Amino acid sequence: MSRRRFLRNSTLSAGTVAATSSSLGAAQVLPAPQVNALAPVFVSTWPFGKPANEAGLAVLTAGGLPLDAIERGIGVTESDPTNGSVGLGGIPNADGVVQLDACIMSGPGHQAGSVAALEGYVHPIAIARRVMETTGHVMLVGDGARKFAQQHGFERGPAVSAKQKAAWKKWRTEQQHKARGEGKPKNHDTIAMILLAPDGNLYGGCSTSGWGYKLAGRVGDSPIIGSGLYVDNQVGAAGATGIGENVMRYCGSFLVVELMRQGLHPQEACLETLRRIAAMDPKGFDLSINFIALDRRGRFGAAGTGQGFEYSVTTREFSRVLQSPGLTSADIGPVGGNRK
Ligand code: ASP
Repeated sequence: MSRRRFLRNSTLSAGTVAATSSSLGAAQVLPAPQVNALAPVFVSTWPFGKPANEAGLAVLTAGGLPLDAIERGIGVTESDPTNGSVGLGGIPNADGVVQLDACIMSGPGHQAGSVAALEGYVHPIAIARRVMETTGHVMLVGDGARKFAQQHGFERGPAVSAKQKAAWKKWRTEQQHKARGEGKPKNHDTIAMILLAPDGNLYGGCSTSGWGYKLAGRVGDSPIIGSGLYVDNQVGAAGATGIGENVMRYCGSFLVVELMRQGLHPQEACLETLRRIAAMDPKGFDLSINFIALDRRGRFGAAGTGQGFEYSVTTREFSRVLQSPGLTSADIGPVGGNRK
């Protein structure tokens, strides 16, 4: 990604990149959220985030709450049987069972809820919200999450779709991937959705079946607060998609938000997070990770390693799929400070 191409892409965002030159000084204390004329602004990962954003916007238009918009929007992706990486159409683990991860955050009150390695339920985002709203906990996993969902009467689904089962059998037979989860997974994606609501508050959610053919019990970045999603009502929100192991070792979304707190434009915060991770990681930029970000002013951006990735932005004025800038070592020279 050349500097010129980055700047061209940046002009697609709601704000300018002028703030990127701010120094990385001490954390600012910001005033309470205010009504924002640009809002609502929905930002989601991947092109499948666009119909999800639009469903969320319809909820707000009909007078629904921002958390209803997040739950309904992500719920659209979870219900889509053609989506092979979110919800019960998602990819199973090495045992042939879909284990879903999801989390949700509410900026006001800094609330969070999460479920991980959840089997047999269609809408993990709704269950994560219920954890947030009805328990004193943040995260429920595995069988405990399943029991909680059962007690609350959530919609059940099959352990794995017929299509995914056939693909899993093929994988197992061909042994294309090592059972220990090594190698580069190709079959994965996540919907992360972040929202600046009309009242100036920020919200977010995240849902995925995770790394295809992962070891049973593997949990990625997506349901981990600060890794796959982070919302700070005073600053902004960020979400991630890609190989979770390369995000969760760095608290990736938290880092994006902290860089926005220090004055960076959301897009530059995503790029700088990638640079920071790549500078530390033995793999350099060969990480397959991507971030979206949105600040309390309604400015947004995204960035990914390699060629970058597509993300979706929806406001009352427009709904579009945008291409993020990408970063490789060719863009900024050798990285990977911990390389042996
Ligand atoms: N981050 C997800 C995980 O590692 C997968 C993805 O977004 O591609 O579980």
